[in-house]
Amino acid sequence: MEAFNLLLFVVEAVGYFTLMVTLLHFRHRLGLGVFLTALGVMHFMETYLAASFYVALPFGVASPGSSVFFAGKLMMILMLYLQEDAATVRQPIYGLLVGNLLTVAIAWILQLHLTIELSPGHAADLNFLREMGWLMVWGTALLYLDSLGIILLYERLGRFLKRKVIWRFMICGLVLLTFDQVGFFGALYYFLDVPLSAFWDGWRAKMFAVGVYTVLFAIYQVYVRRGRVATGARSISDVFSDLTFRERYNDLLERTGRDVLTGVYDRARMEMEAPVMIRESLRLGQFATVVILDADHFKDVNDQFGHLQGDEVLKAITKRLGNILRSSDRIFRFGGEEFVAVCPGTDHDEGLLFAERLRWTIATSVRTPDGTPVTVSIGVATADEDGASFQSVLTAADNRLYQAKKSGRNCVVGRSGLVIAG
Ligand code: GH3
Ligand code: MG
Ligand code: MG
Repeated sequence: MEAFNLLLFVVEAVGYFTLMVTLLHFRHRLGLGVFLTALGVMHFMETYLAASFYVALPFGVASPGSSVFFAGKLMMILMLYLQEDAATVRQPIYGLLVGNLLTVAIAWILQLHLTIELSPGHAADLNFLREMGWLMVWGTALLYLDSLGIILLYERLGRFLKRKVIWRFMICGLVLLTFDQVGFFGALYYFLDVPLSAFWDGWRAKMFAVGVYTVLFAIYQVYVRRGRVATGARSISDVFSDLTFRERYNDLLERTGRDVLTGVYDRARMEMEAPVMIRESLRLGQFATVVILDADHFKDVNDQFGHLQGDEVLKAITKRLGNILRSSDRIFRFGGEEFVAVCPGTDHDEGLLFAERLRWTIATSVRTPDGTPVTVSIGVATADEDGASFQSVLTAADNRLYQAKKSGRNCVVGRSGLVIAG
């Protein structure tokens, strides 16, 4: 009986591996979607089996769901990584994560239905839907960690076993499936009092499955791929960044909140960051200065040379601002041709000097197409003397900008009135 179960177990593993690897191998002809969809579909089967389908094997009672199919899926994720790269393999990793969470959410909703028995003995299995609750959430989280872990471990093993791909494959499987077993059965043991023997039975079945997959992988590697492997070494943190979409995230952070014309941060970003910068300075017992600047008679520049030339002048102004700013300062486009600089750890006098450098640099280096100098007027205010919040400091600075305009433009106005005139 046990021997027959074992035979079926091996047949299932060989069948699963052969079909999946065929889809993976011919992905350029078939499209990768075929492999990925098959991988995703099998997930349901595996969950169902792991919940209710157990058989006696020579090494204990186990479910093909968690050994053959779950172990197989993890090995497939690793194989996809070996043949493609981290940016590709993260797609099924996140797809499985999101799909599983959706499954759990839907299972919860479905339980609220009043179901109808279409024929005797065909009642909806509400128990199964209930089991898809927190345990599956936990399993899903583990699967996510398993998937990242198996790839990172594979890379790490490259240090010691560079060309021994088959060994690396096997060790990764053994380690990660042991980790998975500890994590998953830890929860079962703790919350459902499942006996410890089930842990060892399940663990042995998984290790056996890894053994079968390693043999199949070796055959594939030697006879089909003829030893071709990517051995380009990448740092673990690079691989990790790819796996977690970090570069997309960084990219997004960099791009969102940027003004498209000038490339400096936009007003939304200012509303978000400036108050934090001010608060942080005050918390450290330091001053923080806010500088607001508006181009003088800018309408005339547009009227005379057109909006496109006006845009060029704006870009020239921001370029000068960028050159003068210290690394802790931040500049934001506040409105049309108004910019706000936030300078943490800067008292009022330093802020005025900084503003004057801005004014002078722009007045002496930015010109309209006919060579007329472009000038700016600047208002300066400092926390906490002019207010303890960004809003109040900005209001004070804005009032001083207005005074600067009234005082003839091309000048800087601080707390004690007009300080520097061009
Ligand atoms: P003032 O010295 O009093 O500031 O005079 P001003 O002409 O600069 O007046 P104000 O600051 O009110 O006018 C801003 C002008 O800037 C209005 C608009 O035509 C122009 N402007 C705003 N945004 C842009 C932009 O993105 N590109 C261009 N080319 N012009 C802009
Ligand atoms: Mg203006
Ligand atoms: Mg303006």
